[in-house]
Amino acid sequence: MPELPEVETTRRGIATVMPGRTLRRVLIHEARLRWPIPLDLPQQIQGEKVIACDRRGKYLLIRFVPGTLILHLGMSGSLRRVPMDEALRKHDHVEFLFDDARFLLHDPRRFGAVLWHPANAGPVGDHPLLAHLGAEPFGPDFTPETLHQGLKQHRQAIKQVLLGGHVVVGVGNIYASESLFQAGIDPRTRADRLSRPRCERLYNAVRLTLTQALESGGSTLRDYVNAQGTPGAYFTLHAAVYDHAGDPCPRCATPIRRIVQGQRATYFCPHCQKR
Ligand SMILES: [Zn+2]
Repeated sequence: MPELPEVETTRRGIATVMPGRTLRRVLIHEARLRWPIPLDLPQQIQGEKVIACDRRGKYLLIRFVPGTLILHLGMSGSLRRVPMDEALRKHDHVEFLFDDARFLLHDPRRFGAVLWHPANAGPVGDHPLLAHLGAEPFGPDFTPETLHQGLKQHRQAIKQVLLGGHVVVGVGNIYASESLFQAGIDPRTRADRLSRPRCERLYNAVRLTLTQALESGGSTLRDYVNAQGTPGAYFTLHAAVYDHAGDPCPRCATPIRRIVQGQRATYFCPHCQKR
């Protein structure tokens, strides 16, 4: 599944091309994504200039004067720049055509989304899909203190609270295991029982883990045009515990354990990570 680092890498890619260009045509080849693509979308944005390419959580926000296009890549989607004359492949559902640039939304499992938020409906951050998202991990609202306060509201295991995205967005399954290992926190610890100093360690670990993923993503997916839908795989290569069940802990050599929390695999060192 594309995680925050992959979505951010895509955003950085499109942000070098789209802003300042006029979107000439939108071709919808398959409207049945997670929600149907609005049929009047082309009328809303054809002929409009892109102002900015932003991101909120795993949603790409392409801003125009009359409103914002909200894109989600779902489980397996990608947004790629392709040559003007390249033939469509199977699962290329939407085309965005500029005078000298062409983008294809490719989504084999069709869990992605293409939605339109008109400017007269208010700030896009108030959209129902965005309004309840947690803090951006690199935004000003995410601090050791806000993490501590946010976690106090949750009694579930810290791993699941991180994955839930209500306190902080972008800490997907791989990054949750890695961050908790870096911070020395047992993934089964109740979120509301984490002390302020441990929250600070977790805060630093989350930011470090996502930064490393972005840096490796930035080089591996440097040309996001060629992002081939194997997100996360590149980061697994550098993971200390994720997908390393039975291997020695890189710090203490205790075998890494795998458990299942909320139907998702969690990896941790039973010696280094404390409750
Ligand atoms: Zn260890």
